[in-house]
Formats: sequence, structure tokens, C-alpha cells
Amino acid sequence: MANKTKRLLGKRDIKRGVKKLAQELNNDYRDRSPILVCILKGAVVFLADLIRELNFPLRIDFISVSSYGDSSRTSGVVKIIKDISIDIEGENVLLVEDIVDTGLTLSYIFDFLKRKNPRSLKICALLEKRVKRTKKIKIDYRGFTVPNKYVIGYGLDFSEKYRNLPEIITMEF
Ligand code: 5GP
Repeated sequence: MANKTKRLLGKRDIKRGVKKLAQELNNDYRDRSPILVCILKGAVVFLADLIRELNFPLRIDFISVSSYGDSSRTSGVVKIIKDISIDIEGENVLLVEDIVDTGLTLSYIFDFLKRKNPRSLKICALLEKRVKRTKKIKIDYRGFTVPNKYVIGYGLDFSEKYRNLPEIITMEF
């Protein structure tokens, strides 16, 4: 890796954070049989660890989006590349995301899923950047607040690489 990197969260930190979130979810979703909707691809590693700490019946599904246009910044206009395959009408849905930055992507997905009339729709994000949110969204379950730096590892990529790193690392350009 040519860029300067620094470890932000080690394996033990991540494990602790995931367990803390799982405890909250185990309390809140005990009798609600939710559908966990994972936003591809970054949240896959988080989802895989999280669900193994959950002790209630659940289903999982996946949604994939891409930012519309060629701007390197999130425009907020996102395109659904892969929709969920389970009918969520009347169901308790928990959106599982890796990181919330401006909140534009998550806000779009939230509104998109809301139109499918779930019984409840909540958000669980492993990381939240300490930035001024462009879009107001309520993160119901949050793992860590992180500095406004680009992070990779534990599912998060840089040009589709480094998702397999077991730790969360900041990358400087
Ligand atoms: P938004 O600005 O819409 O909240 O963020 C959109 C998406 O950009 C996130 O879902 C995530 O996939 C990606 N993203 C935001 N910040 C970072 C970051 O620091 N590292 C990586 N790898 N992806 C990020």
C-alpha cells in the first residue's frame, strides 16, 4: 500500500463493538423476527459477524446501489442495481450499513424501502463519520463514531480492494 495508513479499530475493538450492537438488538428484536437488509458490498463482513451474535429468528436480504453519474462525491441520486428479493410489506426491517458519511445513500435507500410498507424500518450502522450530515437520518444502532477520514478494511474498500483486512484502517491520500 503506497498511501499512509493508520490503524483505527483493531480486531478486538471491532468484536466488542459488534457484540454491543448485538446485545441491543437481542433486546429490541426478541419477538419481532426481523429482516436484516445488508447494503452491498461494504456491510457484508459486518453482517456476517453481527448475525452470529443474534439469538432471535431472522432473515437476511441484500440491496445494491450505485451513485448516479460520474461525480466522485455522493450526489444523493443513487441507482438501485439489485433490489431485495423478500417481500417486506408488514415486516420489521433493519437496514445494515457499514459507514454513514453524508447520509445521502442511506437516506435514499431508506425512502426506497419505506415505500414497500414495512411494519418498521430502522438503521444499524457500524461506523458513523463525525461530519455535518447533508441528510438528516436517524441511526438507531451505531457501533463507532470515527474521524472524517477515508477508512478501509472489514468490508470497506478502496477501489474494490482491502475489504478482506481484519482491522479498520484510515488511509491518507
Ligand atoms: P454517504 O456519503 O452517502 O453517507 O456514503 C455513501 C457510501 O460511501 C457509504 O455507504 C460507503 O460505502 C462509502 N463511504 C463513505 N465513507 C467511506 C470511507 O471512509 N471508506 C470507504 N471505504 N467507503 C466510504
